[in-house]
Amino acid sequence: MKTSIATVTVAGTLEEKLAAIAAAGFDGVEIFEQDFVAHDGGPREVGRMVRDHGLDITLFQPFRDFECLPEPLRSKAFDRARHKFDTMADLGTDRMLICSSCHPRALGGIDRAADDLAELGDIARERGLRLGYEALAWGRHVNDHRDAWEIVRRADHPSVGLVLDSFHSLGRKLDPDSIRSIPGDRIFFVQLADAPAIEMDLLYWSRHFRNMPGEGDLGVERFMRAVMATGYTGPISLEIFNDHFRGSDPQSVARDGYRSLVALMDDVRRAEPGVSQELPEIPARVAAEGIGFIEIATRGDEADDLAASLRSLGFDLAGRHRSKEIDLWRQGEIRIVVNREAEGHAAHTWNARGTCVCDIGIEVASGEDALSRARALGADPFHQEIGVGVLSLPAIRGLAGSVLHFVDGTNGLDRVWTDEFIPAPPEGPDAGLTHVDHLDQTMGYEDMLSWTLFYTSLFDMQKSPILDVIDPNGLIRAQDVTSRRGGFRVTLNATETHRTLAGGFLADSFGASVHQIAMSTDDIFATARALAARGFDPLPIPENYYDDLEARFDLPPGLLDRLREADILYDQIGGSEFFQLYSRVLPGGLYVEIVQRAPGYHRYGEANAPFRIAAQKRLARPKGMPRI
Ligand code: MG
Repeated sequence: MKTSIATVTVAGTLEEKLAAIAAAGFDGVEIFEQDFVAHDGGPREVGRMVRDHGLDITLFQPFRDFECLPEPLRSKAFDRARHKFDTMADLGTDRMLICSSCHPRALGGIDRAADDLAELGDIARERGLRLGYEALAWGRHVNDHRDAWEIVRRADHPSVGLVLDSFHSLGRKLDPDSIRSIPGDRIFFVQLADAPAIEMDLLYWSRHFRNMPGEGDLGVERFMRAVMATGYTGPISLEIFNDHFRGSDPQSVARDGYRSLVALMDDVRRAEPGVSQELPEIPARVAAEGIGFIEIATRGDEADDLAASLRSLGFDLAGRHRSKEIDLWRQGEIRIVVNREAEGHAAHTWNARGTCVCDIGIEVASGEDALSRARALGADPFHQEIGVGVLSLPAIRGLAGSVLHFVDGTNGLDRVWTDEFIPAPPEGPDAGLTHVDHLDQTMGYEDMLSWTLFYTSLFDMQKSPILDVIDPNGLIRAQDVTSRRGGFRVTLNATETHRTLAGGFLADSFGASVHQIAMSTDDIFATARALAARGFDPLPIPENYYDDLEARFDLPPGLLDRLREADILYDQIGGSEFFQLYSRVLPGGLYVEIVQRAPGYHRYGEANAPFRIAAQKRLARPKGMPRI
């Protein structure tokens, strides 16, 4: 598999683009003409620069408004093409993209277009060049890959082939299976882009909203399966025009591009066996079964406050590390590791962000397979021995500097809890919390696609549509990713301003991600009583909320009063109920949410989110006060 990406996809100067593209692992690059023209070196120098980065130029693009012009425009278009052929020779590439004409004077006609391409094909052939013809979704006469293929077929020229672009076909809702009958050797190049499902002008949609395969809603996998079924053996390239990517860090956009391409082609390999191009074999998406532990970096008074908070939530101190400043807190299947060490990853994280979640242990079937897939997707492995040095769990750096450990039945984490921690005596009945239901992570809006891609490419997780959640001071875009069996759930909350609750947390914690930890109980009223006995003070919910609840749902007698008394939020979908109880703010700006989820309820109580956020903000510290 030869991977490629168009220079237009990533931000920066041409040098910066090439460095980021090479570092991300791509084999080749499409030179977008505007990037070349804006560069202050000649074509030979650019060609050398590309090759010095270990890359090939897979395509020179785009050559616009060529076919079907009346004279004298037609002769001028041929002259223009000859000039570009000279540039291509100097760059050191043999493949040019000709996109279907948008010229107001283009005449149309399949045979006229085929004749023009065949005539230019003769000139290209003499120079050892190949021309790929692409149907732009908004082309004046040709805007359908089936028409473009008919033109190429009638041109019947060895130097004239077809360029397919998933956006142009899928954006127009063309059936990708129509590609299957095209001979693979007549397809000269394939460009991939996804996009969110938004109804808007095709050109505007394409220029501003394209995103990486898997980040949008188009059927890119089905498109690519059809392409591979033709026997196509050329480069597989990303051509993404996206406003956020243009302003983002080129390295991370290129890395996401590579990740999306590897994940997509792995899906294609599994769904379309026997394709002619050799595709790399990597382990399947990881089935995440649950959260094995959450580690929080903290120090000093905050560490003491955190311990008091955990105790009030029904946690027992289960053990103290034999040689390190690390405590293990336990309730049900939930393990919270509180790390006060002055060295190592937790310490570095605390130095940068203060009290925050620094590590997450995710339960998987095979830690080694999970690590191997993560590496294939371009993730950075992380090495730090846990405890006194008997164990190194497979781990990677997640986003925002966090570390994800892959915990499986064989890599001996249980031994760490028993061997490395001095057990503490049980402290009495707990509050009935059983396991971590989900994590709530925050990020800037521009990072949301990257996070969703991270989770859905590595893990077998489904993403929800993006929802708008109202904060008193701005809008939060929320999307959840959930493992197939529901064992690992993450809600992603993207904010555009620091004035929202999520944005304030992000700013105060210098980019920490885990904002809320949701824990399950089988009986939220019993849990609320147990917590009250331990001195837990819930987030107060206003009376208006319960009046509204009464109007919205036909609740059984007495339930509303019980909810009101315990400050419990309620939701119901299709008869399945969901209950939520929130803590007040914990050290580091963290919150704990306690949930009771009836079978069949798979959401997160988002209908309650605006009222919960408003309640949290009412109790938030005044601006300028130190965090607690
Ligand atoms: Mg294209």
